[in-house]
Order: sequence, then C-alpha cells, then structure tokens
Amino acid sequence: MGRAGRLPGQLERPLLAGVRMGARGERGASEADMERMRELAAAATRHLGTARQTPFCADIVDATTGRRLVRRLNAVAAEHDPTSHAEVRAIRAATKKLKATSLRGHVLYTTCEPCPMCMGAALWAGVDRVVYGATIGDAARFCFQIYTSARQLMRRSDLRCEVVGPVERGACVALFEDRRMAEAMKLWRHRATGRS
Ligand SMILES: [Zn+2]
Repeated sequence: MGRAGRLPGQLERPLLAGVRMGARGERGASEADMERMRELAAAATRHLGTARQTPFCADIVDATTGRRLVRRLNAVAAEHDPTSHAEVRAIRAATKKLKATSLRGHVLYTTCEPCPMCMGAALWAGVDRVVYGATIGDAARFCFQIYTSARQLMRRSDLRCEVVGPVERGACVALFEDRRMAEAMKLWRHRATGRS
C-alpha cells in the first residue's frame, strides 16, 4: 500500500499536535474565518467538472478591511509548473499587485493545509495568519504529500505566523472526494511517480 493508501485519520495525531482550541471557535477560527472558508470551498466546487478543476484554492485577504486581494487555483498542469500550487500563485499575484515583497497585514486562506513549499512561501511573504480547511493527512488519502505540517514548519522558522485550522474541514475534504476529481487524482499520482 502506497502513501496514498493510508487509512483516513492515520496522520491526524502528529499533524494536529498542539492545535489551539481557542475561544474563537473551530480550531481558533473566527466567524469571519469560517465564513471565508465556506465561500472559498464553494468557489472551488464551482470549478469541479471544468478544465480548471482542483481541490486547491487560496485567497489573500487584507486582515484589516477583510477585502480579498487575490484568489488563485492550483495550476500545476495548466502551467506545466510543479510549483504552481494555489498558495504560491496567490502569494505571487498579491505581492505583484501590491508591488511589495511583504504581505504583512494579510491572511492566507486555503482549502488545504499548505505543503512545506507553500508554507515556506507564506513565511517568507510575512502573512499574519494562515487559515486552512483540509489537513495534509486528509489530502494524503487522495494524492502524494510531503509530511511536514504547516505548524511544524512555522515552529522551525525565525518568522512568525499564526496557523489556524482545520476550519470548515468537511466542505474542503468534499472537494477531494468529489467523483469528478477521481480521474485527475489518478493522473497526479502517475505523474508524480512515473508509475501507473
Ligand atoms: Zn503547496
């Protein structure tokens, strides 16, 4: 059994160690965070069944005004770029839009816990908070993952960032579970390993 065949929840304990169950509700999320995540999952759902379908969708939002600066989907296949994850694309688009290298004062919302590449980009960009839906453990049931959690990476960095999640996890996991994603997931695993 490959990694993609792990049983659901097998990785949950180590990945979620130290999660703060704050007074703000779901895993430390505010009502606004939950609303934003529901909206983000709904946006990704609308793309299912289209050429752009993906369970990975990310927003960069102004922490003060709540205004969304950018939204991006994963575009690895479309751009022939293994680094074109939704979070990296959103961070790049946001800094270009602001003509700045820092996203201090902004929040990264993402339907899936950022992989180490994306969490590294979030730390380098200086976002105040990262709020995610599905966990890396959830995603690992469907596609290959790198098993370092967003919190683990943050703790091994000089750069500070609040990591909040999982938030609206069910709606985000449903993106992976959607039958329209099944064929794409098989292709991703094939591309990643060169095996059928
Ligand atoms: Zn990533």
